[in-house]
Amino acid sequence: MKPVIIGAGPAGLTAAHLLAERGVPSILLEASGAQVGGLSRTVAYKGFSFDIGGHRFFSKNPEIEAFWDHMLGDEMLSVERLSRILYRGRFYDYPLRALNAFGNLGLLETFRCLASYLHARLFPRRSVRSFEDWVVNQFGWRLYEVFFKTYTEKVWGMPCGEISADWAAQRIKGLSLWGAIQNALLGGSAAKTLIDRFRYPRLGPGTMWERVAGHVSANGCDLRMNARVARILWGEDGAYAIGYTSDGAFGEVSCTDVISTMDLRALVEALEPAAPPEVRSAAAGLRYRDFLTVVLIVDQAEVFPDNWIYVHEPQVRVGRLQNYKRWSPEMVPDARRTGLGLEYFCFEGDGLWSATDEELIALGCRELEILGLVPASRVVDGTVVRVRKAYPVYDDGYRENVRLIRDFFEVRIPNLHFAGRNGMHRYNNQDHAMMTGLLAAERILGGTRDPWRVNADAEYLENASRDEPDDARAVPERVS
Ligand SMILES: Cc1cc2nc3c(=O)[nH]c(=O)nc-3n(C[C@H](O)[C@H](O)[C@H](O)COP(=O)(O)OP(=O)(O)OC[C@H]3O[C@@H](n4cnc5c(N)ncnc54)[C@H](O)[C@@H]3O)c2cc1C
Repeated sequence: MKPVIIGAGPAGLTAAHLLAERGVPSILLEASGAQVGGLSRTVAYKGFSFDIGGHRFFSKNPEIEAFWDHMLGDEMLSVERLSRILYRGRFYDYPLRALNAFGNLGLLETFRCLASYLHARLFPRRSVRSFEDWVVNQFGWRLYEVFFKTYTEKVWGMPCGEISADWAAQRIKGLSLWGAIQNALLGGSAAKTLIDRFRYPRLGPGTMWERVAGHVSANGCDLRMNARVARILWGEDGAYAIGYTSDGAFGEVSCTDVISTMDLRALVEALEPAAPPEVRSAAAGLRYRDFLTVVLIVDQAEVFPDNWIYVHEPQVRVGRLQNYKRWSPEMVPDARRTGLGLEYFCFEGDGLWSATDEELIALGCRELEILGLVPASRVVDGTVVRVRKAYPVYDDGYRENVRLIRDFFEVRIPNLHFAGRNGMHRYNNQDHAMMTGLLAAERILGGTRDPWRVNADAEYLENASRDEPDDARAVPERVS
């Protein structure tokens, strides 16, 4: 048996870990020359550490929690969550609290929200296809405009009318300002319990993945950094060799099985011989949202008490602000200073993505000032990290595109197993990526559990439809 794993992020490393535990040597090919961990890595700049977005460790799956405990034990902190919404100069508690929300909205706006909610109940949109349809039906037009539209459009870079409704059903699940208002006014019940504590490695999420990488390397896994997979050679019996580039040189390894966590679009492009045209066009149709963080070092011990803030202000482009010392005090080397991460959602090649680091740092300083949080004069240093394909996009066509690709692989290249976030085009957290990596490795060892049946909560649903394991995402929810 000669399994090759593509990508040393949480999914690939978890797969490598299971194989190593079972005494099966694997080859793990990682494109980055610098770090394992993928999107869950920790980046350091002059002693300040930060994540690609803040990474909470939280899972409903006890297997995953046990894995984290086993790897980092006491190094996992339990962190209290404080993450508010900033809108029109006011902070809204999140989860929302009635008094705070009413106070911020004011009487007139509260009345408008209620009126538009009643309108949505009486005259719901009949055909619920888009995020906008779903949220307006659920909360009314006014709340949609105030609390969902700006932030969602910043994150996804497209009008809410074009984002598919199942994403709303999956991510929002009944939480909200409306829940708070409903509670206070009508005695209803807020649907979702938001976690108020989460775990976090004291030196950032990357330490988890460095620890796992060290463990698998010591136990029979051949981890090759700086190895970007560019060719997947396949024939009658499926994939038989994997080609990769490393500093302009080419390498090739033969394989009996493959676990792929690279994005589906690049995976299909790498096939040799090429996949049929309809599969290539399905892959080309998959879209991604890119992401950049402007890290600013502020010469101030305290800036705001939140771990992060959602910025709903329409006049700035920043979407979220991270305050890393509020995740772990050890993320900053000097307690008198603060490391902030200003998160901008973009598309590779657009104005934000192509701006120089200096321009982005200047933009970040300006926006902190506009938000009234930090005067630019207190920012002493900064850096920028750009991340491609941070979010697989759920547009109208993604589901069909993914299905076409899967069908092709299942018939023609059945020894290639999909795992992970971009590897399955699933906008999910580490625990989901890990669970799919685990099941992909299990399959190589003869297991039968199917990674496509893992839901967004990293739970394995034996009887779920293979196409949509997550009930919450299966059908756009209609307001009755
Ligand atoms: C802004 C943001 C915030 C997030 N917050 C959280 C959170 O709070 N909690 C949480 O649990 N999760 C969070 N996530 C999600 C989490 O980052 C991902 O679910 C997880 O990292 C996915 O793991 P993965 O292994 O599937 O993919 P990745 O992390 O993307 O790793 C894939 C790896 O494959 C490598 N690779 C890609 N292509 C190739 C190739 N051709 N050849 C070789 N190697 C290749 C990459 O370099 C990378 O190392 C967040 C993500 C983002 C973007």
